[in-house]
Amino acid sequence: MKHLIRKEFLEEGYVFATRAADIARAAGHTRPARLASNENPYPPSSKAIKAAADVLPTANRYPDETNREFIAALKKRHGDYQFVASVGMDGIIDTILRTLISDGDRVAVATPTYSYYGLAVRAQGGVAISVPRKDDFSVDPAVFCREAAGTKLAFLCTPNNPTGSTETPKTIANICENYDGILFLDCAYIEFDGTDYRPLMKKYDNLIIGRTMSKAYSLAGLRVGYAFVPEWYEPFYHRAATPFTLNVVSQAAATAALRDTVHVKTIVSVVQEWRQRFIDECPYPVVPGGANFVMIDVAPHTAEDVVTELAQKGVVVRSCASFPGLPNHYIRVSIGEPWENEAFITAIGEIYQP
Ligand SMILES: *Cc1c(COP(=O)(O)O)cnc(C)c1O
Repeated sequence: MKHLIRKEFLEEGYVFATRAADIARAAGHTRPARLASNENPYPPSSKAIKAAADVLPTANRYPDETNREFIAALKKRHGDYQFVASVGMDGIIDTILRTLISDGDRVAVATPTYSYYGLAVRAQGGVAISVPRKDDFSVDPAVFCREAAGTKLAFLCTPNNPTGSTETPKTIANICENYDGILFLDCAYIEFDGTDYRPLMKKYDNLIIGRTMSKAYSLAGLRVGYAFVPEWYEPFYHRAATPFTLNVVSQAAATAALRDTVHVKTIVSVVQEWRQRFIDECPYPVVPGGANFVMIDVAPHTAEDVVTELAQKGVVVRSCASFPGLPNHYIRVSIGEPWENEAFITAIGEIYQP
């Protein structure tokens, strides 16, 4: 019956980093340091946990389809912008693609970057085209606008996964001015960096800023993402969305998490301290970045060799070889719990050979 499946889904989908974890387990590490998937190692805000538990008895009812509570908390937090919310930022990306992309439409992607954009574009029948970043992994606005010209939508991630590189608001403004499609700015890691792109929403009607509760807010398992959208665009978004997006538990938890500013601030400052320690103490060059992970250049070794050696020492990190556009000598290491970070610093020091 496989002939019934659309051709877009015949090839392999999203690649999860399971191989390194298997190597660590085979080497006898029952509890390896898990630094491969950019999760927040700390539990969610206790207020979020309580809010989630409190609404569970009402789960017989459908959730509020307008996500009213969460949107109100977003306006309180960020100011008077237009917001949409969905099942992770991935859910937002899917819905945006539904509003814009039909068979054969081209979508620009600043590469190397997060692989889901390409998968989601193809699932919608679109064609993803890569716009290469510069050698330092930043985006040249002139090149970007030239290559993206004529596309309806472009994806740009900042701080970028997996490189960590962060664009200035000036670069983003320059792109918004010179690109005639919609720019989707993926800010999944922005809390760890602090660059503020929000004021650009007041100036440009072709900018969408995607955010998530999965990373700095420790709610990856509840799947909550949101986006700043232009006013004109919002009604179209809702026409293309599924009737219910956030569930009662995720909405209650996300609302409480957003209000608990102390929890997120504490996490961000711990992550920033460790990021600096990784930069200072890793013997290999670390690409400058603003996320809760760092990308490390392990040349002359290959990413696969270093990932395997680290796994044998009980530290699971991600090879960047599966990111199209990156040479095979970069690894990505998330900032985890202190014991995990220490384990990484020790292990990378042991395997370092100049
Ligand atoms: C983790 C991540 C996301 C996905 O966020 P969810 O809200 O968990 O779907 C989106 N973009 C980038 C770059 C990410 O790394």
